[in-house]
Amino acid sequence: MAAAHVLVFPFPIQGHINCMLHFATALVGAGIHVTFLHTDHNLRRLGGRSSSAARSPLLRFLSVPDGLPDDHPRSASDLPGLYKSLAGGATGPYRALLAPLPPLATGGPSSSSRAADAGADPTGGFPLVTCLVADGLLPWAFDVAEELGVPAIAFRTASAGSFLAFLSVPRLFELGELPFPIGGDLDEPVRGVPGMESFLRRRDLPSACRRPKDSDDDVNPALRPLAKLSADNGKARALVLNTTASLERSALAHIAPHMRDVFAVGPLHAMSPAAAAASSSLLREDDGCMAWLDAQADRSVVYASFGSLAVITHEQYTEFYSGLVAAGYPFLWVLRPDMVMASQDASLQGTAAAAAGDGKARVVAWAPQRDVLRHRAVGCFLTHAGWNSTLEAVVEGVPMVCWPVSADQQINSRFVGAVWRNGLDMKDVCERAVVERTVREAMESDEIRRSAEALAQQVKRDVAAGGSSATELDRLVGFIRELNASSHGQSQ
Ligand code: UDP
Repeated sequence: MAAAHVLVFPFPIQGHINCMLHFATALVGAGIHVTFLHTDHNLRRLGGRSSSAARSPLLRFLSVPDGLPDDHPRSASDLPGLYKSLAGGATGPYRALLAPLPPLATGGPSSSSRAADAGADPTGGFPLVTCLVADGLLPWAFDVAEELGVPAIAFRTASAGSFLAFLSVPRLFELGELPFPIGGDLDEPVRGVPGMESFLRRRDLPSACRRPKDSDDDVNPALRPLAKLSADNGKARALVLNTTASLERSALAHIAPHMRDVFAVGPLHAMSPAAAAASSSLLREDDGCMAWLDAQADRSVVYASFGSLAVITHEQYTEFYSGLVAAGYPFLWVLRPDMVMASQDASLQGTAAAAAGDGKARVVAWAPQRDVLRHRAVGCFLTHAGWNSTLEAVVEGVPMVCWPVSADQQINSRFVGAVWRNGLDMKDVCERAVVERTVREAMESDEIRRSAEALAQQVKRDVAAGGSSATELDRLVGFIRELNASSHGQSQ
């Protein structure tokens, strides 16, 4: 019988790629063949970086077109554009990969990357695809798989808590919690998301639940489609989440009845040394900041980063900068070139240079974040509370100061501030005095540090052999092998 072979297909943005690459390396570690599907654009940007970091004969990287012109920014400014065009651009080549005898497409970068990998053999020496594990945000990928008789498993890269909030959207409408009343108090508690009624406020729901600004609509047009996508993930054979019971036991229990099976296998970056080493940074990491960190005292540095997509105004930039300077600790700040709206580059660089000039700060366009968070000099993390960043800080026991921007970040930061208590939630406030005060508290509070360290120990136990996530991963590997056995008409 041929070996099991999984096609892993992330939505092609940084946070989703990182997490699903860690997942791919975990499967490879269990002896499963994996084809990891990038877009042509991202595979070119990576320039072989992810393949060299995750080298194994069981893992190959292929790509499909995303349907966008080369000069499209593929940034937060037009994610819906990427979302729409991907289905159009990628469906044909993707279908060919799943079909029983994948033909080599002719022409185009996707076929050349496939050919480079495959050599003369159109399957690249890989067995036929046993099953698909696709980002739950790609419904068309599931439809094609189903049509071709390939079993499909959904993977959601956000927290279980935010996924449960989306599953609860119909109930929130029924209860009259949604839409929010005009001018209503965002600090009001919310009923209807099971297990979270004691701590969830309106402002903690995923950002799509808020009334749209500058519009007569009372509901964000993305909210119902996002809720439907989440409910539709229940049609897949199973749901995989990058989380763990000790972080989200209750949310996982409440999600289970909506899904055919649920596997909580995270934090995936901490599952193995191979996963930890696998890198897929679309921007080039500035390693120079590591030497700068080496020169700083233990737990003296504030690391500030808002992930790969968040965009802030120039005014917010100034408030953060002034707050960080006033807090008085050395800081390392990731300032992506597209991060500050309508940025007057010269003035930002001037400020950065002035800050760096006195040795108190270091500004980089992109950092090796997991190494930074692991560094003894880092004392706290000012973050947008993206789920990957949250898990990375949790695993390293680094106290967090959260300033969520969008998506699941609102609910993640509430967990940090009110449930796990490994940090503080600065949600919806961006004033220098608050930044200064909150950063100081996170740097100096013994209580927060103790909670962060205890949580890290717990989560490390979950990913170690015999822990809940490691056990769930074994169960998932068994599930995939079963699918493989039944696709070959025999049991193992
Ligand atoms: N990241 C990084 N270098 C940086 C900033 C972020 O490597 O300078 C990585 C970070 O480690 C995380 C990912 O980018 O794995 C961001 O994902 P997250 O879910 O936190 O936020 P998103 O970018 O999706 O908003």
